[in-house]
Amino acid sequence: MNRNLTLVTVLFIVLFIGVSYIYVLDNPVEINIQATIGNTTTTTAPVTTTTTAPVTTTTTAPVTTTTTAPVTTTTTAPVTTTTTAPVTTTTTAPVTTTTTIPTTTTTIEVSQEQEEVTINTNSEEVTEIYEGEFTSFDGFEGENQLRLNELVASLPDELRKSVESSVIFVNGCHSYAATILERCPFGVWDSAGTFADGTVNSKWKLSVWVSNKAFANNRGYDTLLHETSHALSYLTRNCINPEGEKKRIEAQEFFGSEELFADALAIYYGGDYAYYRENIVLQDSEREFLDNYIALCCDN
Ligand SMILES: [Zn+2]
Repeated sequence: MNRNLTLVTVLFIVLFIGVSYIYVLDNPVEINIQATIGNTTTTTAPVTTTTTAPVTTTTTAPVTTTTTAPVTTTTTAPVTTTTTAPVTTTTTAPVTTTTTIPTTTTTIEVSQEQEEVTINTNSEEVTEIYEGEFTSFDGFEGENQLRLNELVASLPDELRKSVESSVIFVNGCHSYAATILERCPFGVWDSAGTFADGTVNSKWKLSVWVSNKAFANNRGYDTLLHETSHALSYLTRNCINPEGEKKRIEAQEFFGSEELFADALAIYYGGDYAYYRENIVLQDSEREFLDNYIALCCDN
């Protein structure tokens, strides 16, 4: 029975739809059909995809290069320097006192023609000044001793002061000179103090002799001046010139000889007589030389 009812219902519905459709087709009507078909909210959760890249950590290990230096072991052996000191042998020599006895050369110049003798020695020792009587001297005469003393006092001051403290002036005929000359000389310069027999070191070292014969021939002063010039020459024998040479030697070479040097000095000091020199006039160069000689070698 239900089945017949359902069938009748369906047939009725179909009949109804068919009739409606024919009606709609003949009467178009705008129909708003809003079908509400449930409210379904679908929440889609955001998919968070986290891609974790693989972390590649490259660790560059520091290259440690260990260079093992070759170990050089230098063993410095202690240097042992053995210095062999020279053997110093100190020999204490015995104190030897050597007394050098200077060789004394005595030069005796004899002028046969001029009757004048010069006895020179190169001794450099200091001669003591003689003080005493002349009467015991070999050849002493004495008749003109006071006259001679007066002439000595009248010598130019410069010349006299250069010699008077050292030299003695004897009026006599020097016996040794007379022997070798074979007659009495006018004058003698005797630095050595020569005895009649030729031996030396008598009391009349550094003596000027002027004989009676010289006075008798009016040559007393000229002879005194010449012999005193020898004395000055001798007393300055150790005088050294700026070149380190003996000025006296230079003078003897300059004038030609000791005798010519004495003659030049005699003229220099006012003499007007020469025993050996050819003239009694000094050239300017000669006077200049003597000026320098006196200034260099004489104290006053
Ligand atoms: Zn002379």
